[in-house]
Amino acid sequence: MRSYLLGIALVMAGAPSAFAQRPTLTDGAKRFVAIDEPVVVLTHARVIDGTGRAPTEDQTLIMSGGKITGLGKTGSVDIPAGAMVLDLSGKTVIPGMVGLHNHSYYTTSAGRVSQSNFTAPLLYLAAGLTTIRTTGANNPYAELNMKRALEQGVLPGPRIFITGPYLTGPGGTSGSMVQLHDETEARRVVAYWAEEGVQWLKFYTGVSRAAMKAAIDEGHKRGIKFTGHLCSVPHREAVALGIDGLEHGLFANSDYDATRVADQCSTNMMKSFVGLDVNSPEVRATFKDMIARNVALTSTLVVYELFVANRPPLEQRVLDAMSPDARTEYLISRTRIAEVPNAGIPLDVFKTGMKYEYAFSKAGGLLASGVDPTGNGGALFGFGDQRNVELLVEAGFTPVEAIQIASANGAKALGIYDKTGSIEVGKLAELSIVNGNPGAQISDIKKVETVFKDGYGFDSAKMIEATRGLVGVR
Ligand SMILES: [Zn+2]
Repeated sequence: MRSYLLGIALVMAGAPSAFAQRPTLTDGAKRFVAIDEPVVVLTHARVIDGTGRAPTEDQTLIMSGGKITGLGKTGSVDIPAGAMVLDLSGKTVIPGMVGLHNHSYYTTSAGRVSQSNFTAPLLYLAAGLTTIRTTGANNPYAELNMKRALEQGVLPGPRIFITGPYLTGPGGTSGSMVQLHDETEARRVVAYWAEEGVQWLKFYTGVSRAAMKAAIDEGHKRGIKFTGHLCSVPHREAVALGIDGLEHGLFANSDYDATRVADQCSTNMMKSFVGLDVNSPEVRATFKDMIARNVALTSTLVVYELFVANRPPLEQRVLDAMSPDARTEYLISRTRIAEVPNAGIPLDVFKTGMKYEYAFSKAGGLLASGVDPTGNGGALFGFGDQRNVELLVEAGFTPVEAIQIASANGAKALGIYDKTGSIEVGKLAELSIVNGNPGAQISDIKKVETVFKDGYGFDSAKMIEATRGLVGVR
C-alpha cells in the first residue's frame, strides 16, 4: 500500500497536464483567427452533441471564457449583453473531434518520411480535430518540441497526447524504432520516456510478450498507457498482459491466424481475415476480453482503403495539399493497386474489417477513430480523419454514431471526457461550425468553416490554404 501511494504521488507530480493555459498567439498564428471575442453566441444552430443523442434543431449555444456556458432552444436562452452573435441557420455544430491514431509525421508512397510540424497541426485543426494522440513518433523530440510550440501559441493546432517512439522486437522493421531485447531493456526504455513527458507508448509488430509485459508493468507505475499495432502478440494475449488500447481494428490482430508461432509475426495474418465470421465464438471472445478490460479499439479504415482497388479517388483539396512528389507517388501507387493482381487488400477483407469494428461497438466496445497518415500517402492529416468518419457510416453506423466515435469515444479513451469530446454545458468550447447537415449526409463533415478552441474561432479555409503543396515537405 505504501509503495502504491508513493507511486501515485510521483505520477501526479511528474505528469504534464494535458490542459495547458490558453496560449497567447504569435502573429504567425493570429492570421488564422476568425473570431476572438470573450463571449460568442451561436443561434439557430443544429447541434450534434457527440453523446449519440439525436440532433437538436434551432439551438442557441453560448461560449464564454473558452467554455460552453449555455445551450438550449433559441429564444429560451438569455443572450449576454455585448456578446458576438452568429446566426447559424442551415449550419450544424459538432464537437471537436478527438483523433486516436494520428501522427505528426507523414510517409509518401515511396517511403520518404516528413516530420510535419507545420502542416499536421494546421490540417488537424482545420478538419475539426481539437485533440489528437500521436500514435507512435518517428522523431519523438520533434514531436515534443511541436507540442510545446503549440502550447506557446506559435501555430494553431490540436491538444496533443504524445506517444513516444515505437517499441518493437529485435530486428524490428523501421530505423527509428526501439528494439526491445529483454525485460530489463523494456523497463529502462519506458522509464526514460516517462521522464521525458510522453503519455502513451506504442508497441509495434515484432515485440515479444515478455518485453510487453515488463514495459506495461513499468509504464503503468509511472502513469503511462500503452497501445499497439501488433502482429507477434495477438490481441487477446495483449489484453491479458494489460495493454490499454489496440490499433487498426481487425487488421493488426493475429488472434485468428492458426499458423502463428509465439512471439513471431506471421505473414499469414491477412489470410486469416478471409471469410472471417465476425459473429464467430473466436471473435466474440476477443471482444469479451477487450470490453472486460476496457481496452479501446481504434478504427483506421481510411489508411487501409487506400490499398483496395478502385475505391473513390481522393478529393482535389487533398491532392492540392500534397507536395508534387508526394502526389505523384500516391497516384502511381493507386494505379498499381488497381492494375496489378494481388497488389493490394481484397475488397472482401476490407469489408470484413468494417463489420468487425461495427460488431465490436455493438457488443459494447469502445471504438475510436483516427487517420494514420502513413501507408501510401493518401491519408492526410485531418482530411483522412474526416474520411474515416465517412467510412464508419459505410460500415453501418449512423452519422450520429460515427460522430460520437470520432469525438466522445476518443475523449473517453484518453480519459478526458469530463472536459471535452461532447457539446455540453460546463465542458470546454471545443467545437466546429459545419456548413450543412452531417447528421443527414455525413460527407458534410468536410464542410468545416470555423473551429473553436482556447476561446478562439479559427478559420478552417485559411489553415488549409496555408498548407497547400506542403504535405510531404514540412
Ligand atoms: Zn500509425
